Amino acid sequence: MAAKSKRNTQTANERNRDTPITPLRRLVIPRPDILHSYLEYKQVNQYLEYLAQRYPHFVHMYTLGQTHEKREIRALEINWMNSENSELSSQMREHSPPPFVAQGRFKAPVVHTGEHCRKTVFIEAGTHAREWISISTALNCIYQLTERYTRNIEVLRKLRFIIVPLVNPDGYEYSRTKNVNWRKNRRPHKSSKFVGTDCNRNYDIFWNSGPSKINRNTYKGERAFSEPETRAIRNILDRMSSNLLFFLSLHSYGQSIMYPWGYCRETPLYWRELSSLANSGKSAIKSYNGREYRTGSISCLTKRTIAGSVVDYVYGVLRVPMALVMELPSRELGFQPPVEMVSQIGHESWYGIREMCKRSYDLRLQIKRENEPPLPRPAHYESPQPSNEAMTTETPTPEESAAGGDCPKTLPKKKKRVKASVLAQHEAILRLHKGSKANGPQVLPEGLQALPAGLFPRQLAPKYPPMKRSGLSRDGRGGGDGVILTSRGKPPISSTMPLGVFL
Ligand SMILES: [Zn+2]
Repeated sequence: MAAKSKRNTQTANERNRDTPITPLRRLVIPRPDILHSYLEYKQVNQYLEYLAQRYPHFVHMYTLGQTHEKREIRALEINWMNSENSELSSQMREHSPPPFVAQGRFKAPVVHTGEHCRKTVFIEAGTHAREWISISTALNCIYQLTERYTRNIEVLRKLRFIIVPLVNPDGYEYSRTKNVNWRKNRRPHKSSKFVGTDCNRNYDIFWNSGPSKINRNTYKGERAFSEPETRAIRNILDRMSSNLLFFLSLHSYGQSIMYPWGYCRETPLYWRELSSLANSGKSAIKSYNGREYRTGSISCLTKRTIAGSVVDYVYGVLRVPMALVMELPSRELGFQPPVEMVSQIGHESWYGIREMCKRSYDLRLQIKRENEPPLPRPAHYESPQPSNEAMTTETPTPEESAAGGDCPKTLPKKKKRVKASVLAQHEAILRLHKGSKANGPQVLPEGLQALPAGLFPRQLAPKYPPMKRSGLSRDGRGGGDGVILTSRGKPPISSTMPLGVFL
């Protein structure tokens, strides 16, 4: 009897051994909470891996390169119209390109030709280490296009997306754990004690047109593309350039959507189309919750010229039809708005970004850049404003400009018109955060241990008293975010938060 039982057990074990590893096992990757926290580098990767495994029929992950501290820079491709998407009809599959191609040992996005050309939107974020909200917002775009793909199917049917949510992971981890105001990457320089280069000054578009000091926050590097991060982004952009329709660089904070040029004061030939594109995003966000963005050229809105930025490179060198920089809100919220706002800023931004994607698709036939005259030359070097000059890498101020026209030096004195409800919510959150700001140092002391996974200084702040969430609706249909973004009708005025957290 015992022997028989043993035989049965062995049989069962053997059967288990023979069972192939099914997708069930692969789905064990936990899903980080991208909507209500600032993720650490590992969690960002974990989220991308989770999605690539959960939606293998239209989501693929690529490694673009490696940083000085050996972190991988990753991109996620979201490509609904591919020949292996089982959710498409067989006829549509036949007319769609393959999902990816092999490039050596690795996979790479397909470079489309013919009718599928110029249908790719490229979004990048996290170039500047301290701009945490830009990373969360890029992750929210990814979330909308994957986990909420049925709500965004209209853009997915027209466009392919390549999103790099964290261009500068070394700098980001340093900002998370050592110096919250760190902006550059973390590659040291020979013959200097100063560390890091501003990756958004390091692209080869009139790179050498202005001075740049090694101790500054906006140091442009020893030469164009001296940094592993910019080389990684350049390689994918160069490879995909013939397919790119719309390029969007996410930064914070400035509450503005800007178009080239940054390096000179001229405006491009197609500035009206670029302006119309930016305004479509601005209007969408305003209709979503009343927040009002500014639009204009980088040099105009930032009141300075900025050479070597990625958006100028994409627009000027690669001649991608449309390229914009989006500076997320806002001066009051800073580079790292309280975590309670991550979801709301992500959702409102997505509403604008999605509108701009649709608009770029509509504009695609109107823009023909092949016969454009040569690029305007940059004017003489225009010296930055004195307070900017005084800044060092270790003591930056929030108003520091980032290329692509980060945060405008001179912010408008006029108060933006924002619907009272949003303003009141933000003010309430900021008031409550004041206390935690005073208690918790912004610059963490040297040698401080990294915070536990998923926790950030602001998340360690004392618990806030519950606040009445009048006027907010909660959607219980999974995902936890509760915001419905449909192309029909107006979405709710604000995102909803889990119980215990207010907005
Ligand atoms: Zn920036």
